[in-house]
Amino acid sequence: MSADAEMNSSPPAESDSQVMGKDGMAALVEVLLRRGFTVVGPTVRDGAIVLAELRSADELPYGWGVELDAGRYRLRERADGAAFANAAGPQSWKPFLHPPRVREWSADRLKGELVLTTDHTAPPRYAFLGVRPCDLRAIAIQDRVMTGGVYRDPVYEGRRSGALLIVVECTEPGATCFCVSMGTGPASGPGYDLVMTEVADEDGHRFWVRSGSGEGAEILAELPARPADPETREVARAGVTAAADRMGRTMPEADLRELMAGTLDAPRWDDVAGRCLTCGNCTMVCPTCFCTTSEDVTDLTGDHAERWRVWDSCFDLDFSHLHGGPVRASSRSRYRQWMTHKLGTWYDQFGSSGCVGCGRCIVWCPVGIDITEEAAALHDWTRSGPSASNEAAP
Ligand code: SF4
Ligand code: SF4
Repeated sequence: MSADAEMNSSPPAESDSQVMGKDGMAALVEVLLRRGFTVVGPTVRDGAIVLAELRSADELPYGWGVELDAGRYRLRERADGAAFANAAGPQSWKPFLHPPRVREWSADRLKGELVLTTDHTAPPRYAFLGVRPCDLRAIAIQDRVMTGGVYRDPVYEGRRSGALLIVVECTEPGATCFCVSMGTGPASGPGYDLVMTEVADEDGHRFWVRSGSGEGAEILAELPARPADPETREVARAGVTAAADRMGRTMPEADLRELMAGTLDAPRWDDVAGRCLTCGNCTMVCPTCFCTTSEDVTDLTGDHAERWRVWDSCFDLDFSHLHGGPVRASSRSRYRQWMTHKLGTWYDQFGSSGCVGCGRCIVWCPVGIDITEEAAALHDWTRSGPSASNEAAP
């Protein structure tokens, strides 16, 4: 569903509530391919569940789950054969909507004339299969960032406007997930074309499917499905409720925007700076981080030049380079910038949190820095009397 359509979306009617088996999932991928979509979904590759182009539903990670912890990611087999009982993997949908590298233009000097070329290749029409509710919210946040202001990003808009979003609600949270405390899951919010909840129990492997858009309803009508029975609906809802109760982590119950604004001088920033490698992994895996920089390259002849837009990270020393050097030279200032933007100043800039609680930054941090633990430490500091313990340098 496009960002504009999402504004007008309403919950699906219960009559548009179907149940299908694994044959329905196979048919779904076939229908999407027949309709011309590039289908992207989870699949097992290189020891992880990654997002990649799918040619058939057989490539889904049936029977695979994951074990997550700070700085740790492991695949594990599942006896129930579920395809979506695994928490967020190393990628979000960001690389497909906001690519890591985009050539903005190239220039050639031909017989003394400068010829500029821009790439107008039409983007693929994506169908994202298996969007987690936290990532659905992250896409909505990126919609606001990339297309919600005066200047709309044409690359993002071109890819996003035709994208079909098929959400699968979470029934198996990871130990690093905290979507409940960010209000983004494990049940889906609005904005999807189709939403499903997977059930794999003694009564069979099935998916409870509802549509959230006209196109979603059309696709659902083409699938081998039957009206949802009350038992399947009940088991599916119970699975999502149980997932909420098993959430691995939680943010402190505090106004995070106020917490960030009131702890800028907390000694905890020195503590985390002593552990942070400023590698930028957390920004690369984060589904909402959006910063880019420009790179200009030439060939050896000097007659051909290109400008590329590439992802950037606020952990990079050059990120804040102004005249005379970087504004944020210390790792303390760079970590603080990242976290206070995510949880605090994002509200001022875009009207929401910049964090959806997916936990990727915790899993893929090489030293296991945990944003929930850092927020809790700052919260504790405010409650235990900051003036008594604050020895931090400004
Ligand atoms: S918090 Fe972790 S992932 Fe992020 S820059 Fe520091 S070391 Fe890297
Ligand atoms: S800050 Fe971490 S938990 Fe929050 S959205 Fe980004 S990667 Fe996910």
